[in-house]
Amino acid sequence: MTKSIFTTAIHAGRPEGGPISTPSVPGIELAVSYRAANVDRLHAMLDGEAEGFSYARYGNPTSVALEQALCTLEGAATARVCASGMAAIHVALLLTGLEAHDTLLLAQDSYGATFALVDTLLRRLGVRPVFVDATDRASLAAALAEHRPRALLVEPISNPVLRLCDIAAAARLCNEHGTHLVVDATFATPYLLRPLDLGADIVVHSLSKYIGGHDDVLGGAVLAREEYAADLRSLMILMGGLLDPHAAFLALRGLRTLPLRMREHCRNAARVADWLIEQPGVAAVYYPGLTTHPQHHLAANMLPKGFGGMVGFDLQDGNEVAALRFLDRLRMILPVTTLGGVASQILYPARSSHRSLPAERRRTLGIGDGLLRLSVGIEDADDIIADLAQAFKV
Ligand code: PLP
Repeated sequence: MTKSIFTTAIHAGRPEGGPISTPSVPGIELAVSYRAANVDRLHAMLDGEAEGFSYARYGNPTSVALEQALCTLEGAATARVCASGMAAIHVALLLTGLEAHDTLLLAQDSYGATFALVDTLLRRLGVRPVFVDATDRASLAAALAEHRPRALLVEPISNPVLRLCDIAAAARLCNEHGTHLVVDATFATPYLLRPLDLGADIVVHSLSKYIGGHDDVLGGAVLAREEYAADLRSLMILMGGLLDPHAAFLALRGLRTLPLRMREHCRNAARVADWLIEQPGVAAVYYPGLTTHPQHHLAANMLPKGFGGMVGFDLQDGNEVAALRFLDRLRMILPVTTLGGVASQILYPARSSHRSLPAERRRTLGIGDGLLRLSVGIEDADDIIADLAQAFKV
């Protein structure tokens, strides 16, 4: 029987059948080393030939519980949780076999730090980054045919102007060219979209956002099909960035309510977007749920459960001073550099999430001087709107 995500999120990864009694939730397992039944068994575990725990960098029961839950929600065969979303992106790219002289195709409106990672660190190591408009199928097809890249990294809902990449179409194109498709689904979460079902090879999440959901845990996850399992295991052992057990516990607790929170984020964001579009102080609103969004048709097909909790908007006086004063006037919505928490959060992309992009590139991507990015929380929508309304009244 296929269960609803509202049910699987509650029960996936729960401890099973102990010899005497079984805890309802996994413990925060702090042991760094484990004694095996005998040393042959220990050595087999180190080689990955036997089940069990040997050394904490290889895995621990708390992180495994979270990995199992994430696999269930994402429909993945294998998963590893990492110290941050950025660590997960590193691991996911290495998992594609990326090496010097390979081309890496990257959506041009990727998260700022992802862009910087590829454009600085990976470029220095000999990788050739090529940036593409992943919202446009023809551009994507042309770039794949021309560059034959090792991997393509995209976000289904991009940051901060909420453009969409058609994941099923991208997967078909990647398949034709033998390119690994890596999807950063942090904004979508498995509640809105399961990229592996649509043909993607590897999915990454920042657990620090919607999955953790409470602004109290930093983490990331890499999920993939079975054929990546052995490589993912060895990569994580060598990278050494496994998520700490305390953080794994909190991320799993957050995940239990992910579907409930996402349902409310989507409802509230739709209300806020509808309200913003009517305000004289607002020049433009970016939200895939609006019929005026240029990809609304794709959004309705790809995201049938809702359009996410993120809304971008341009202030009428599109300058930095006006945007920063607007943030200062907010009384409840938090001006912080994150998203996906239960509380509404707002930031100024040009000086925070996308500050590492050259000004020219920011402008090309539509990240203007008056753009604000709102992560709509799960407070009462009327209270969110009331806070925005008082901030518009100068
Ligand atoms: N991917 C996206 C889409 C993000 O927005 C972020 C952070 O904002 C990251 C990855 C990186 O996650 P973390 O901050 O957990 O490293």
